[in-house]
Amino acid sequence: MTEYTLGVLKGDGIGPEIVNATISVIEAAAREVDLNLKLKELSIGWEAIEKYEDPIPQVTKDSLEETHGWILGPHDSAAYPDRFKQKRNPSGELRHYFDLYANIRPAKTMPATKSVVGEADLVIYRENTEGFYTDRNMYAGIGEFQITSDVAVSTGVFTRKAIERIAHAAFQGALERKKKVTIVHKANVIKLGTGLFLNTCLEVAKQYPDVEVDDYHIDAMTAHLVRRAGDFDVIVTENMFGDILSDLTGELVGSLGIAPSINSNDTQAMAQAAHGSAPDIAGKNIANPVGILDSTIMLFKWLYTQHEDVKWKDASQLMEKALIETLAAGISTRDLGGQSSTEEFAQAVKERIVKSEK
Ligand code: ATP
Repeated sequence: MTEYTLGVLKGDGIGPEIVNATISVIEAAAREVDLNLKLKELSIGWEAIEKYEDPIPQVTKDSLEETHGWILGPHDSAAYPDRFKQKRNPSGELRHYFDLYANIRPAKTMPATKSVVGEADLVIYRENTEGFYTDRNMYAGIGEFQITSDVAVSTGVFTRKAIERIAHAAFQGALERKKKVTIVHKANVIKLGTGLFLNTCLEVAKQYPDVEVDDYHIDAMTAHLVRRAGDFDVIVTENMFGDILSDLTGELVGSLGIAPSINSNDTQAMAQAAHGSAPDIAGKNIANPVGILDSTIMLFKWLYTQHEDVKWKDASQLMEKALIETLAAGISTRDLGGQSSTEEFAQAVKERIVKSEK
């Protein structure tokens, strides 16, 4: 039986609580489907600063190379000492270091969450390595210059190679869904950069004749999402537009606090909830683990596509079904209006995994 290894980076603030809750659910699902899974805990954030004087040490990156994928808890980089502020934060560094070019962020209505746009089930493919996020798009330096105290220049970078690969990821994702891709850009104003994004996506689209394609300017797209989010399937866009749009879609379908995501390249993937480390509620056993758990379910589905080992698929389905049943039974943490602690919520999901039919 193949042994798989998942890296576990617990992070700061509520990170250890929600990641521990997720681990207990993963272990229950792995046992049920007989998945031989080893979890390898690695240092990040405050713990790594204390141990290695680096919030994302090389030893952690080297160990991640040896894993099949990993779970990243949130980090509180805004609170790190000033000497770390010039560097990319741990999540940005991991995306950059491993070239995790696709940030895949679904937004789907779930029981116990209050969608303001009715039923919706869409997924954003956000280009994760360049575009308007200046600290991602340079070999050296951070892509911003201050010419005088009153003049700053921030660079956007768009390359055909990066656009092609995110476009392929989006079209391939659409083939598994409703076969519709919406390209989001601002090619009427940022004609060269986002024009290249649009045109390259349209060229890639020709290789997917079964997928319907349309495109919108980023500003118009925000209105379309508020008005008719249910009409969209896959959205592909550049880094910053994708970051902003996915916060919008996460909140529209219920709560940004439970929005999941994975960051992936062709051989590696990292599960990461959209929310931050919530230091205001850390250590109280009240944080909602749904975002990180749902991200881990996405990671398991991705691992199935990589390894074609049906145990990943079975485990992901068990966890997803148990999560939805738990929420549908009215069990949730306080942020969703419930009474459960983080541990009680995880326990309720685990119980439903054990009771499920294989
Ligand atoms: P970052 O900049 O690291 O993304 P942030 O400052 O934008 O973080 P969060 O840390 O996500 O914000 O917290 C925003 C608010 O949402 C806080 O009040 C926090 O308690 C709440 N929150 C965030 N995540 C959760 C969660 N998993 N469960 C419950 N509440 C949460």
